[in-house]
Amino acid sequence: MSLLAGKVAVITGAGRGIGRVIAEDLALHGAKVVINYHASAAAAEEAVASIREKGGEATAVQANVANFEEAQALIKTTLDTYEHIDILVNNAGTTRDTLLMTMNEEQWDTVLDTNLKSVFNCCKAAVRPMVRRKQGGRIINISSVVGLVGQAGQANYAASKAGIIGFTKSLAKEVGSRQITVNAVAPGFFSTALTEVLSAENKEKSKEFIPLGRWGELPEVAYLVTFLASDKAAYITGQVINVDGGIVM
Ligand code: NDP
Repeated sequence: MSLLAGKVAVITGAGRGIGRVIAEDLALHGAKVVINYHASAAAAEEAVASIREKGGEATAVQANVANFEEAQALIKTTLDTYEHIDILVNNAGTTRDTLLMTMNEEQWDTVLDTNLKSVFNCCKAAVRPMVRRKQGGRIINISSVVGLVGQAGQANYAASKAGIIGFTKSLAKEVGSRQITVNAVAPGFFSTALTEVLSAENKEKSKEFIPLGRWGELPEVAYLVTFLASDKAAYITGQVINVDGGIVM
């Protein structure tokens, strides 16, 4: 039987980038996936079509997960469609990079709302149905190595990603007795729209401090998420696991 047969997974920001590859891998292993998107409707529909072509089950649901009501509606639509929710992957994220001296309030709020408040919003909506069903659950929050070590020009992003780690550990303690695990995944460098802003020179330079000497491939995040989402990871909770080629060790 497939690793995730019978499971229902919601992945936020899954129309493109890392989220999309996570959704595809979860579906490949038998989960029914809800592909949340905010603006990328065409990409999300394409992701759904690609999963269905391979025999998987997927639905695209639009929601700005930074907005409390829209996040609640995302989880409600999932429950209306698939009756339960077993796996929540909080992946949606953004950047507004600039030094603190030039960072404005809007840049701070957008990053904190999109990256951190969204995690609160979606967990708040998903935990109660998981607890009521008494079948356990999996929550996987996508943080970043920047949340562990900081980065000049990313005080907002680093704060949001470090916030996710504190949130993850706290919620893991709250819901552990219900067999709901809550873990964080901290990626290093992966080629997506988020990292496109880096110059070719800086991308090359970054490899100097990656022990494995290369950027990661998107499926290398997805494989870890699929494992954490599975029954095989039932005894792992409250952890931050880096997928970073050894940048932080
Ligand atoms: P992308 O920019 O490629 O994708 C970002 C995703 O987030 C898109 O699917 C976007 O959806 C979604 N999103 C943004 N805002 C919202 C919102 N308000 N509501 C719903 N969805 C939203 O970035 P990545 O794939 O690289 O990033 C995915 C996650 O991985 C992020 O949390 C990021 O911080 C993290 N990460 C990435 C690293 C990397 O090297 N790429 C390294 C470390 C962490 P839409 O297009 O529909 O708006």
